[in-house]
Amino acid sequence: MALLVYKFGGTSVGSAERIKAVADKVKKAHDMGDQIVVVLSAMSGETNRLIALAKQMQAQPTEREMDVLISTGEQVTVALLTMALHDLGCEASSYTGAQVKILTDSSFTKARIRKIDDAKLRKDLDAGKVVVVAGFQGVDELGNITTLGRGGSDTTAVAIAAALKADECHIYTDVDGVYTTDPRVEPKARRLDHITFEEMLEMASLGSKVLQIRSVEFAGKYNVALRVLSSFKEGNGTLITYEDTQMESALISGIAFNRDEAKLTITGVPDLPGVAFKILGPIADANIEVDMIVQNIADDATTDFTFTVDRKDYQRALALLEQTCADLGARKVTGDNTIVKVSIVGVGMRSHAGIASTMFKTLAEEGINIRMIATSEIKISVVVDEKYLELAVRALHAAFELDKISA
Ligand code: ASP
Ligand code: MG
Repeated sequence: MALLVYKFGGTSVGSAERIKAVADKVKKAHDMGDQIVVVLSAMSGETNRLIALAKQMQAQPTEREMDVLISTGEQVTVALLTMALHDLGCEASSYTGAQVKILTDSSFTKARIRKIDDAKLRKDLDAGKVVVVAGFQGVDELGNITTLGRGGSDTTAVAIAAALKADECHIYTDVDGVYTTDPRVEPKARRLDHITFEEMLEMASLGSKVLQIRSVEFAGKYNVALRVLSSFKEGNGTLITYEDTQMESALISGIAFNRDEAKLTITGVPDLPGVAFKILGPIADANIEVDMIVQNIADDATTDFTFTVDRKDYQRALALLEQTCADLGARKVTGDNTIVKVSIVGVGMRSHAGIASTMFKTLAEEGINIRMIATSEIKISVVVDEKYLELAVRALHAAFELDKISA
């Protein structure tokens, strides 16, 4: 008998029929003897609909009231699923975050979970019931309703799995697992049976949208085995755990990319202590996130400094950098918002030499110019012109034989 947490996303509970299909699936697992906690999102589109309604009332509603509002979407789905389970003769109870007592801090719309009271959940599970919990929400010390940030139901599921020491946390979604790359770009992309937390974190932060980054971090921290599966298709999905021996043969696990990149360069900067801070300080103060940073070796007394930001922040960053250029007496500022980042990710990189050279050789053979390079222990990222994105991804996918099943 296993204790499993099942999380279903918005599309999986997007209509009455789909909620009934979820009930069937849950009942089947429960009949097999497993203990099941179900965590749900709101019906697809519902959270957006509520946010749009709020904006019709007030341009900037308080975050406290926003949370009272947007937490209702999940309250609807947990009640409906529980009714559907009852209709199948399956004992079940629904709970809001506050009813469970998922205690959070008071940062409305982006609250952090502090503690989960597992008493009610345990009692129901021990009595043979299915427990259905509203995702995305909690309650603060004063009894205010809080929400965890968009996509937060994944985090609820993982946190509950950690609190209950569940055997696995299943994230049911509209894709059937984590792929070697986006199948829309490379149709030969393959579903991975297994990936490590670290790889998944890199893939998620590099643009793979399968799982919320925070939920993967949480799962890693509490060692909750995560499995991503399709709600609509049978299959084992992708298991995310710490490194195992099976993985040792795979050099790289996946190729991630991000289309929303822009780069900025300031040249002829005096090569003095404090310059990096003077350049990036105003950018950080403006709450603009900087990703890659490259500073060249100075050959005269000046140096060049390049960094990347999200495309939506490009114009603001450019204006700030122009100001810094004037303040520092640097030569000039240039920028490009038609670049993308392509990254290869894999724990196998740690123990194998030559991965970077294979990557660069592959891009060279396709005539793709690399504009920037950044590496970490398990990732190599390159910045290239956006017109080469598809070509780069496919060429790398083939070069690292990601279309072939590894041993
Ligand atoms: N319903 C919330 C959202 O759309 C939470 C979730 O789906 O995970 O962000
Ligand atoms: Mg979601």
